Amino acid sequence: MDRHERRRRRKRQMPDDDIIITMENVSKAYSTGAPALNGVDFTVRNGEFVFVVGDSGSGKSTLIRLLLRELVATSGYINVLGYDLNKIRHRKIPKFRRNIGIVFQDFRLLKELTVYDNVAFAQRVIQVSGKEIRRNVPSILATVGLAGKYKAKPRQLSGGEQQRVALARALVNRPAILLADEPTGNLDPNNSWEIMKLMERINENGTTVIVVTHNREIVNAMQKRVVTMKRGVIVSDEEKGGYLDED
Ligand code: ADP
Ligand code: MG
Repeated sequence: MDRHERRRRRKRQMPDDDIIITMENVSKAYSTGAPALNGVDFTVRNGEFVFVVGDSGSGKSTLIRLLLRELVATSGYINVLGYDLNKIRHRKIPKFRRNIGIVFQDFRLLKELTVYDNVAFAQRVIQVSGKEIRRNVPSILATVGLAGKYKAKPRQLSGGEQQRVALARALVNRPAILLADEPTGNLDPNNSWEIMKLMERINENGTTVIVVTHNREIVNAMQKRVVTMKRGVIVSDEEKGGYLDED
């Protein structure tokens, strides 16, 4: 289905319900400099695993932040999980974001809280019951391989372990979409592989996953869809792609 067909369906309120992310002709200009995104068309189907690669400054983080509605597009249309992000009301944004888990390069854990509480916190803020929290947190910590570390504080963990806590926190509310912005940027090769394999498993269990990365070796080995950005545009989008060799 091309962009015009999608637009027509949208006007008739007949979304292709397999598509859960749509960007049409999206541009984002910050107050200074050239546009960070310039006419991006991008769709993601439910259940896909997508790598986003490209040089530093090519617009990858801007794309992620637009999908989270941390930023608003300067022009163009963005729909995520049926929410029109240009029109969404401010009070609806927290509810929208519950559907999205996010992981960053620098983990962003709460330093004073234990592993358990870092993950439980994500459930408390959306008012999950204590009983469910006591069931969900151990379950997700086991999934990421941290069953024995409930009481540790972030500083007592390796980088790989901290990122697994961050992943557990991103996933405990069972989001439809996981976004990861350079999640292995601070990790050694072994831990990078473990995090990527975990995200692959999470994807196999039905979560749509979008991973921004510079890790050429992993991208080439995993044979997923690869979207390559350059100066604010998508220059290639390949099923079972590899890292374009151009530097
Ligand atoms: P990437 O994640 O691919 O490195 P970014 O999306 O962070 O790229 O940045 C794309 C472009 O937008 C870069 O030129 C960057 O300097 C610029 N940019 C990013 N964030 C801001 C901001 N808050 N204010 C102004 N310019 C920004
Ligand atoms: Mg970035």
